[in-house]
Amino acid sequence: MEYPGNLFVVAAPSGAGKSSLVKALMELDAQVQPSVSHTTRPPRGQEKHGREYFFVSPQEFDAMVAGGAFIEWAHVHGNRYGTSKKAVEDRIAAGADVILEIDYQGALQIKRIFANAVLIFILPPSWDELRARLERRGEDSAEVIETRLTNAAEEMAQAREFDYVIINELFERALFDLKAIVHAQRLKFSSQRRIRADTFKALNII
Ligand code: GDP
Ligand code: ADP
Ligand code: 5GP
Repeated sequence: MEYPGNLFVVAAPSGAGKSSLVKALMELDAQVQPSVSHTTRPPRGQEKHGREYFFVSPQEFDAMVAGGAFIEWAHVHGNRYGTSKKAVEDRIAAGADVILEIDYQGALQIKRIFANAVLIFILPPSWDELRARLERRGEDSAEVIETRLTNAAEEMAQAREFDYVIINELFERALFDLKAIVHAQRLKFSSQRRIRADTFKALNII
């Protein structure tokens, strides 16, 4: 099924800078909208229900799974995370560009449903820097950080399945790369024909 809006999916090992990059992109480009996932993980210090995530109990999550509310969901670092159907389908059908920040399992599920989804993997410049960022962020316990680092190797091995890879060494450079991917997607023939319908019509291109 072809939708007028683009669907971007960003995955990365925890601490690679995915959330910071997506947030910066959305501040520069109001056309890109986030999808707020549901999770059974407890909120971190500054996180607000409905902003970073919808924080739900395992029972509420089960009920949503049973009710078919998710287009994808996965177990990640001992918690469950899921993308609701409504958050995505309605908006790309209305022509918005939606960006998902999800783990690689979810990303691969999305690609099977939306063949046109653009999959972007964010890598850290090194193991040392990945650990340093998780420690500097200061939001997770030492135990949680170890789990996330252990899981990072398996996650990064999946980068080969993605359409694009960004190495987040210098933040501004990585943001430029992310903008370039979004921009290139909008320059595709099918997008241009929709966005510049008048020009195409005047030029007699069908
Ligand atoms: P982060 O790794 O520091 O961004 O920590 P989070 O707790 O925000 O995310 C945990 C993992 O769950 C990450 O791999 C996310 O990409 C993933 N994730 C978040 N939302 C979703 C979702 O809706 N679906 C899937 N499949 N994964 C998600
Ligand atoms: P993720 O969402 O992938 O877990 P975050 O966006 O929370 O990662 O970033 C992890 C930490 O690294 C944050 O403290 C963030 O400010 C920092 N960070 C992100 N990108 C860079 C970068 N290019 N250089 C240095 N620190 C960075
Ligand atoms: P965190 O707990 O640090 O917010 O997120 C941990 C991981 O869960 C990240 O890799 C994040 O991308 C992933 N994640 C967040 N939401 C979802 C989701 O809805 N679905 C899937 N599959 N993963 C998610």
